[in-house]
Amino acid sequence: MFAPPVNRLITELARLPGIGQRTAQRLAFHILSTSEEEALGLAEAIREVKATVGHCEVCFNLATESTCRICQDERREAATLCVVEQPSDVIPIERSGEFHGRYHVLGGALSPIDGVDPEDLHIAELLGRVDNGAAVREVVIATNATTTGEATALYLADALRERAPDVVVTRLASGLPVGSDLEYADEITLGRALRGRQTI
Ligand SMILES: [Zn+2]
Repeated sequence: MFAPPVNRLITELARLPGIGQRTAQRLAFHILSTSEEEALGLAEAIREVKATVGHCEVCFNLATESTCRICQDERREAATLCVVEQPSDVIPIERSGEFHGRYHVLGGALSPIDGVDPEDLHIAELLGRVDNGAAVREVVIATNATTTGEATALYLADALRERAPDVVVTRLASGLPVGSDLEYADEITLGRALRGRQTI
């Protein structure tokens, strides 16, 4: 329907998560209508990010050097490690302002059905960090509250207990979203909120 270069752009855009054919088409026409400078700015930003951003060799967060900014920050507590699935999970935890330790990014969650086994994630490196010098006193497991995230949390808790029995392993509490009504909460969330209740 369109010239081949336009089709190619639409196909590439439609590959992005959450972008369907229709949105891809709209974006493609938007790009066609913008100035060359603006459109090439986007292309250059993509090229630059792929050329310069890699993974931290300690925690596997995104990094432009061999280690990330959090690992380089001496003020971050080395005694507490927060384990997340993806680099994008670091951002909301940082935004909460409640965590002052360091991170460990697994690179996904265990899912034998999809062929994701422990050796496909950065689990060995996590265990290495925990028993290396015994500086770590607590590991906070902040994998997603999904089937695979929960399975990963249980696997890690077992592995950590075996490898480093003195390290405290905790899991993020699950509860009610702030600003929501009790009557709209699903029973699983509400059940967990009840089990995780705290003294006020
Ligand atoms: Zn790092």
